[in-house]
Amino acid sequence: MTSKNESLFEQSQKVIPGGVNSPVRAFRSVGGTPLFFQRGQGAYVWDADGKKYTDYVGSWGPMIVGHCHPQVVKAVQDAAAQGLGFGAPTASELELANLLCKILPSLEMVRLVSSGTEATMSAIRLARGFTGRSRIVKFEGCYHGHSDGLLVKAGSGALTFGQPSSSGVPAEIAALTTVLDYNDAAGLEKTFADMGKEIAAVIVEPVAGNMNLVAPKREFLDALRNLCTKHGAVLILDEVMTGFRVSLQGAQGYYGIKPDLVTLGKVMGGGLPAAAFGGRRDIMNCLAPLGAVYQAGTLSGNPVAVAAGLTTLQLVQAPGFYDNLAKLAKQLTEGLTAAAKKHNIDFCAQSVGGMFGLYFSKTLPTSYAEVMKCDKEAFNRFFHAMLDAGHYLAPSAFEAGFVSAAHTEADIAATVAAADKIFSVWQ
Ligand SMILES: *Cc1c(COP(=O)(O)O)cnc(C)c1O
Repeated sequence: MTSKNESLFEQSQKVIPGGVNSPVRAFRSVGGTPLFFQRGQGAYVWDADGKKYTDYVGSWGPMIVGHCHPQVVKAVQDAAAQGLGFGAPTASELELANLLCKILPSLEMVRLVSSGTEATMSAIRLARGFTGRSRIVKFEGCYHGHSDGLLVKAGSGALTFGQPSSSGVPAEIAALTTVLDYNDAAGLEKTFADMGKEIAAVIVEPVAGNMNLVAPKREFLDALRNLCTKHGAVLILDEVMTGFRVSLQGAQGYYGIKPDLVTLGKVMGGGLPAAAFGGRRDIMNCLAPLGAVYQAGTLSGNPVAVAAGLTTLQLVQAPGFYDNLAKLAKQLTEGLTAAAKKHNIDFCAQSVGGMFGLYFSKTLPTSYAEVMKCDKEAFNRFFHAMLDAGHYLAPSAFEAGFVSAAHTEADIAATVAAADKIFSVWQ
């Protein structure tokens, strides 16, 4: 008997390329049929066949207060009843902009957009307009959305010019992107020494969360800040994932690093399409209609999305919110690590605030190359066994995981117990 998930996937493949509207959903990495979800509540989601899962994906990050938080749902309903959109300014956009600038001291001005891709793409254009330079620097394994110049990762050499990692990206555009190794402060210093005058911006995930999770080294963060300042390049912290996730003030607050521009998304939309970029006033003043750098959006600052984001950002300011989130993530990673150790499995895990990484490896990876050495087949087996047991992890060994404030210690303990059972018969 085919399940509803299987039937929906079969039908979807006829009208949607690969049956999905974003490739990571397709289970290509882990194999099998992607789940079609019908609803979520708190820490749980239910698939089209009615099976319940404890959710560690959280819509890839946004659901930090859990699914269908009553206050978020109410705010969205109230906003919708007032009008779904105007394409004109509203007071709620001002409220959200003020709140973002209040929470993140590095934001002197902010512009709302609808996706993380838009935020990073616009921040790059702005940095180029501000500096009058063309080259950008990114790090292998960091994802900054799917605009042309950012869909580039290097070959193995540290200082190679960019090779597009997608067909359809002209080599001429990729050539303007220099790709370096994450956490390689010396490589960054050499690049600046060689071509510092050409570099408009360095863009980085301050905790890399799109190649599993790779934590930044202190010397790397310091090099980013110091070298950008020294050479007049714009430091863009891409906090689309880490913003309001690793701490209230994101990774910039967690590690104490001040960016020139910040990109935000995911949590700040509370599950709806809202994102932003912002930072130094002198840079933001270059944006149209004040300045010559053009950027626009029919749906930017959409009132329903803004309501979801505003309410979510009010909820995460509750005292102890991030201590609790970090404690839950730690309980999960320490529990899984202990279970694997008990059964002699090469596995380790770590968390930063409310995000975590799981690795079938003896040691924590610090670069893309090290992440690639983790045992992907072991992860895929683990993923499917956990899925069967009702625990939904990201369907790829190369994604970070997320907990929400709706998870309880009992939820995490149940997930750890399920993993322990899987590891006990692991061969
Ligand atoms: C998700 C993500 C993006 C892209 O955001 P979209 O809303 O999917 O376009 C950009 N940067 C980082 C760090 C992300 O995690």
